[in-house]
Amino acid sequence: MPVSDLSTAKYEWTDETISYYRSQVLQTLSQVEGLAGIEADIISETYMTPVDFAERFHAYNGACFGLRPTLTQSNHLRPQSKAKNCENLYFTGSSTHPGAGVPIVLLSAKIASDELILDDSVSMKATKAQTVHSAGGVANEGS
Ligand SMILES: Cc1cc2nc3c(=O)[nH]c(=O)nc-3n(C[C@H](O)[C@H](O)[C@H](O)COP(=O)(O)OP(=O)(O)OC[C@H]3O[C@@H](n4cnc5c(N)ncnc54)[C@H](O)[C@@H]3O)c2cc1C
Repeated sequence: MPVSDLSTAKYEWTDETISYYRSQVLQTLSQVEGLAGIEADIISETYMTPVDFAERFHAYNGACFGLRPTLTQSNHLRPQSKAKNCENLYFTGSSTHPGAGVPIVLLSAKIASDELILDDSVSMKATKAQTVHSAGGVANEGS
């Protein structure tokens, strides 16, 4: 059930809150054909609240989803896979480009790893060129 994250919710996650949302869910389900008596048929039940998402998964403000795909948080405006102000730092996951959902997050991982491999090959080429140049320099000095 969609609920507010911990930064915007105007209520605490007490037993009363949980009971309120539980009855909302059961009320909605019981209107589905064949599920009228669903509450009586419950054998076991579990629930997770934003507090659980924050405590168990370190989810920011207990939000279970990443950044919303609004216009200003999409495409090139979404956090990119490569850090702008820090070298050798790459990001992946649902709050980064291209977005949320398991297939999209896997694509995000590919984009980040491609960037990393590209940067690594460029830096390895530069190191190799530097080594060759230095070696040549030493040889010239000796001759
Ligand atoms: C209820 C729900 C239903 C969904 N249904 C679908 C669906 O049907 N199909 C679909 O494609 N997508 C679905 N999604 C979305 C999908 O699950 C996410 O987009 C995807 O899991 C995000 O992947 P991620 O790797 O970015 O983050 P996550 O899968 O959240 O992985 C982040 C991991 O990092 C760990 N972590 C956090 N902080 C730290 C730390 N400090 N140190 C170490 N580890 C840490 C967390 O415990 C977690 O395991 C659903 C999401 C939710 C919440």
